[in-house]
Amino acid sequence: MTQSLRTDGGDRPTVDVGHVRVTALLDGTGDIGPITDSFPDVPADQLLAYKQRYPGVYGEDDQWHLWIRAWLIRAAGSLILVDTGIGGENAPGQAWFEAPGELMAQLEAEGIRPADINLVVITHVHEDHVGGTVTPAGDPAFPAARYVVQTADLAWQRALAPVDEEARAVWDTLLQPLVDKGVVQEVEGTADLASGVQVQLLPGHTPGHQVVRVASEGRRLVISGDAFTHPMQLSHPDWPNVSDDAPVIAATSRRKLIAELGSHPGMVLAPTHFAEPFGRMTFGPDHLAGWRAV
Ligand SMILES: [Zn+2]
Repeated sequence: MTQSLRTDGGDRPTVDVGHVRVTALLDGTGDIGPITDSFPDVPADQLLAYKQRYPGVYGEDDQWHLWIRAWLIRAAGSLILVDTGIGGENAPGQAWFEAPGELMAQLEAEGIRPADINLVVITHVHEDHVGGTVTPAGDPAFPAARYVVQTADLAWQRALAPVDEEARAVWDTLLQPLVDKGVVQEVEGTADLASGVQVQLLPGHTPGHQVVRVASEGRRLVISGDAFTHPMQLSHPDWPNVSDDAPVIAATSRRKLIAELGSHPGMVLAPTHFAEPFGRMTFGPDHLAGWRAV
């Protein structure tokens, strides 16, 4: 059975999953360099051929046109933000994404104040997902929220900070302040956040990468973080992204998600970096799985 979707089709597409409402917030979009640099282990001719099917993730001169999203979940008694985008002018991600994130303006347009957010889920601790965790002064950007992070990701970044410059910037400016203020809620594996909303460890892209599952009234949606970074990975789960920390584990995680999407044909996939925020897995004439926006 295909689940019906209610999307507003506007700037902030929205899907109702039973009693839970999920809204896509676009933090930014831009060309970030040759797409072949981001998928160096994928045969270049095949990678570039996917431009025909998925033109929205290819920019000028076959650069990777990156879309960066966060998500707002309205569940009974909880307002949940999933990821915080690239962050402001001084955030570490500005080194490679040359525009400050628009998450705060997107939230304001939804009528949400930062203090309204109860939970902030960090799918993983990369710069384009944790960039907006704190204010420029280093205070939690969402003052009433607990920040839900997998223990494995927090431990990984803490351990890398002394030896890796990028990790140090993320740890010192975006994570340590949250730890110091006591607002981090560490989870290991699976945890319920609200009625119909759950986080689940799905490692590989990072050791503590997690997805957010929404299930209500027989309907399902998964906010997949960076389990998939390019829609071609639905057809080729073994094709890694250069920033997959453990490519073999990441491929296993992608296969798990593909199997689940296959056994629930109405399930909606909500990825961070595709051109469209919501879609489903579909099968083409080649019998390979693919992405179809909804
Ligand atoms: Zn990302």
